[in-house]
Amino acid sequence: MYKTHTCGELRTEDVGKTVKLAGWVHRRRDHGGVTFIDLRDRFGITQVVFDSQTAPQAHQAADALRMEWVIQVEGIVRKRPPGSENPALATGEIEVAAQELRVLNSAKTPPFLIYKDEEIDEHTRLKYRYLDLRRERMRRNLELRHRVVKFIRDYLDERGFWEIETPILFKTTPEGARNYLVPSRLHPGEFYALPQSPQQLKQLLMVAGVERYFQIARCFRDEDQRGDRQPEFTQLDIEMSFVDREDVMQLVEDLFTKLVAAVVPEKRILASPFPRLSYREALERFGKDNPDLRYGLELVNVTDLMHNCGFAVFEQAIRSGGSVRGINVKGCGEYSRKQIDELTEFVKQFGAKGLAYIALPHEGEVRSTFAKFLSPEVQAALFERMRAEAGDLLVFIADKDKIVFEALGRLRVHLAEKLGLIDENVLAFCWIIDFPFVVWNEEEQRWDPSHHLFTAPMPEDIPLLDTDPGRARGQQYDLVLNNYEIGGGSIRIHDRALQEKVFKLIGLDLEVARERFGHMLEAFEYGTPPHGGIAPGIDRICMILAGEPNIREVIAFPKNQAARDVMAGAPSPVEPKQLEELHIRVELPATVQKS
Ligand code: ASP
Repeated sequence: MYKTHTCGELRTEDVGKTVKLAGWVHRRRDHGGVTFIDLRDRFGITQVVFDSQTAPQAHQAADALRMEWVIQVEGIVRKRPPGSENPALATGEIEVAAQELRVLNSAKTPPFLIYKDEEIDEHTRLKYRYLDLRRERMRRNLELRHRVVKFIRDYLDERGFWEIETPILFKTTPEGARNYLVPSRLHPGEFYALPQSPQQLKQLLMVAGVERYFQIARCFRDEDQRGDRQPEFTQLDIEMSFVDREDVMQLVEDLFTKLVAAVVPEKRILASPFPRLSYREALERFGKDNPDLRYGLELVNVTDLMHNCGFAVFEQAIRSGGSVRGINVKGCGEYSRKQIDELTEFVKQFGAKGLAYIALPHEGEVRSTFAKFLSPEVQAALFERMRAEAGDLLVFIADKDKIVFEALGRLRVHLAEKLGLIDENVLAFCWIIDFPFVVWNEEEQRWDPSHHLFTAPMPEDIPLLDTDPGRARGQQYDLVLNNYEIGGGSIRIHDRALQEKVFKLIGLDLEVARERFGHMLEAFEYGTPPHGGIAPGIDRICMILAGEPNIREVIAFPKNQAARDVMAGAPSPVEPKQLEELHIRVELPATVQKS
């Protein structure tokens, strides 16, 4: 037996016991004739003392020990001398007086310090991920993720859900991203697609009568690596039969409420039941459909006040179908020109041409680019609408709605970060509902499903699919947490005729649809129950609960931002023989150098 106890286990009750511990040399300190080793394993750290007086051989052997060597120690548990206890360690009241030391393995000097929580260049961390994962921060994140997934499994099991695995080698799936393809050796010229999600399979499990399904499912989407994306990620995939959207939302809401209480009890859920906002309301108030409800700074529509306000920029924007909206940045009335310029530069990144402002530094004092154009009545109405007081800064954007929402929505988040309005211990969940069923794709001049092509329209909006599709709403819901959409789902179409109608609406040729999704259409004819589901993203949820800035921090072996595994070196060229077997010839674009 290598160890009688873990390095996180011993307490004062164990004093006097002879124990064996094994782990890594976390830190060492030499004090004359005494060497202290902090011995670490996954469970914690225990101080081991090598004393030249009482155990000269072990003490001498300890001389050779270096950081991250793997050792086994046998010794006696004793209380630490008064005053030398370490309250930061669970084992901080005791130490182990070593009698014997066995070196199980030596270690090269690691490329970064394991015991210190310091900034390390991410490439180095990912290249030596197995060392990075030894660090306390990452150990904590791995544990948190395990707890989250374990809680979900237990919760759903208790409610009659079965976890069922679905294939990784499959066919094109409908989420709309690019597929990862896997060439088939046995069927030359044919390819499997890695699933973007188990969407079709979970629906087919409903046809199969499973009624309540879930899976901690790996999904693959070959998207450009914008922002915080991973080519493969994990979602909690759920599907249920005989449900309406209320049933799915209530289940998920209860699951996350209990999960937070069990896994991160130190965090507080802002509002329960989770607030529900229509897609339109989310845009109007927050400029985006994944709004952060932890702070105010809401958008205010002042278009109606500005029709003939005398300020050409506003009037022009309104005349071309746009709007004028603003934010009251409370308490920032004394912002300098330079500070306001910084905000202007910020919104320009998102297409805004500028940022109009009225600063109200003190009672009776107005500093503004455009207030002089406004009549006293319009000004008064504007101040009332925006609840303006002395000390406030009012900022405005006038443009097409799309730009106004995007720029002000981003500015709102930027301001909240800048002004320190975000409470990291608060979890603001909310639901976004009543999404448009389809959105117009300007580039390709056709309708795109706003969720995916199996989502059902609101029953009362089905006639609109023929007359005014843009006004139809879908039976879709998104779960939002803080600043992120953490999952989307919908009630599905379970009827072949309606499904074919939707294929037609989104310009999917019926022949192509039958070739791609024929199995779904056929299944729908064999007694398909009404069903719906959702798929919250495990990576993102763990990231938020762990208070980490990106999902790579909660994935054991993530790809870097260029979608590469820099530890193993993937993707990589393969042997010519492998390509031959697959009947594949590689023709590199001129821009790529052969390596
Ligand atoms: N398959 C969908 C997605 O991955 C989720 C769902 O509709 O359940 O976005």
